[in-house]
Amino acid sequence: MRDEDIGQFQQSLRGRLITRSDPDYDEARALYNGMIDKRPLLIARCANAADVMAAVNFGREGGLLIAIRGGGHNGPGLGSCDDGLVIDLSTMRGVRVEPANRTVRVEPGCTSGDVDHATHAFGLAVPFGIVSSTGVAGLTLGGGSGYLTRAHGLTIDNLIEADVVLADGSFVTANMKDNPDLFWALRGGGGNFGVVTSFLFQAHPVKMVFAGPIFWDAERHGKEIMCAYRDFLPEAPEELGAFVGLKTVPSMDPFPREAWGKRACAVISCFNGSEEEGKKALAPLLDQLPEPFFNWMGVMPFPAIQSLFDAFFPKGLQWYWKGDFVTFLPDEAIDTYIAESAKAPSELCLVHLYPIDGAASRVGKDETPWGGRDATFSMVIAAIDGNPQQAGALKRWGRAYWEAVHKFNPGGGYVNFMMDDDDEARVKASYGDNYARLAAIKKKYDPANLFRVNQNIRPAA
Ligand SMILES: Cc1cc2nc3c(=O)[nH]c(=O)nc-3n(C[C@H](O)[C@H](O)[C@H](O)COP(=O)(O)OP(=O)(O)OC[C@H]3O[C@@H](n4cnc5c(N)ncnc54)[C@H](O)[C@@H]3O)c2cc1C
Repeated sequence: MRDEDIGQFQQSLRGRLITRSDPDYDEARALYNGMIDKRPLLIARCANAADVMAAVNFGREGGLLIAIRGGGHNGPGLGSCDDGLVIDLSTMRGVRVEPANRTVRVEPGCTSGDVDHATHAFGLAVPFGIVSSTGVAGLTLGGGSGYLTRAHGLTIDNLIEADVVLADGSFVTANMKDNPDLFWALRGGGGNFGVVTSFLFQAHPVKMVFAGPIFWDAERHGKEIMCAYRDFLPEAPEELGAFVGLKTVPSMDPFPREAWGKRACAVISCFNGSEEEGKKALAPLLDQLPEPFFNWMGVMPFPAIQSLFDAFFPKGLQWYWKGDFVTFLPDEAIDTYIAESAKAPSELCLVHLYPIDGAASRVGKDETPWGGRDATFSMVIAAIDGNPQQAGALKRWGRAYWEAVHKFNPGGGYVNFMMDDDDEARVKASYGDNYARLAAIKKKYDPANLFRVNQNIRPAA
């Protein structure tokens, strides 16, 4: 690549072009997952859709590998690439709330915390994930599940429209009326179809919630808790978002000292309503369960539960991810979950089962490409530690755990909970019958597979 071409490209941008000789190159290329170390040739930090169009054209004409970066949270680091061009959207962070029709226009560099902050002032929220530093763009394009999913569906079920820069550099809007095939594909098909420069979401009334974690001793009570949670959930009101997890009680204040370092079974809930109603909703579960290590549920603003765990997961930790869609959770599977969890090599390692029911399960299997509509849970195994020397142990634990439980879940999993060892067959399994339609739409909008740094959908033959 000639310096002259790079110089011209820089001049065509309102944003910044960062090269390997820039003093902040290492900071600019760093991803959320410290296990991933990629060295792009150029990072185009775009300021607007015009910059994105210029970047797509420059990358395509120069034969560069292109990666698209929203929040940079992706497990295998699909927001970056080696030796190619990163289209970095991280400074495009505008949010505009329309209170009259409860919609929110969101730029693609926003974290879910950015949007929660803006909508909370209006008593509104969009269903996103459970850690507020996660990028809205990657989360949405993969599906998006969180506390509001039982009541209001996945993030994609609340997407009304997206602006997209396509592989040929052109700009289109996709919604139910305009480019409906592209709009269908964007709702779960990941970053395969173009660079989204703006999202329009439906928001819902959410202000103060009754929320927080309850932890029990996993060794003594894990099976009882998980079985009770599984049986309770189908009857629970949809205003209650509650997931179950296996984790470790952090060895620090304010956690009870006698529980420090012990493996725990947790139910983490967010009830969109009053404390009284929330307690009533949870009573059929909690009344039958033993004393927990602690119950820290309380009334809080919705953004507080959305960011409650942020401090435990700063940028730069080592992460190894595995996931599955779970349709049945028999007692035998629960035994396996608990036994494998006890082997965790680090305090931060966790397994979560997020409910896929209520509003998310009322969307038809072919209304969006998202492959888990029939599932009961989206399960994630996250092997996490701050020490890079633990990377091998994390991968070994994550893989062994997944192999032990995958026999109960023979299908695919949520693409946003995958790592780089999840191959094409696994991506196909995750989309099931919708894969062929995705491949046909890919052929129409990106026939040369320019956008291939993602859970890739190959253009149909
Ligand atoms: C701590 C943590 C908590 C999480 N919790 C949840 C959760 O509760 N629920 C949930 O559903 N997921 C959750 N996730 C998973 C999350 O959805 C994925 O990591 C997702 O990829 C993050 O998106 P991003 O924009 O930050 O990632 P990036 O790494 O920037 O991008 C991820 C992928 O999306 C593509 N992409 C990004 N922006 C665009 C764009 N504008 N146009 C086209 N393609 C684009 C990229 O090419 C890449 O393939 C969590 C992840 C982490 C690290």
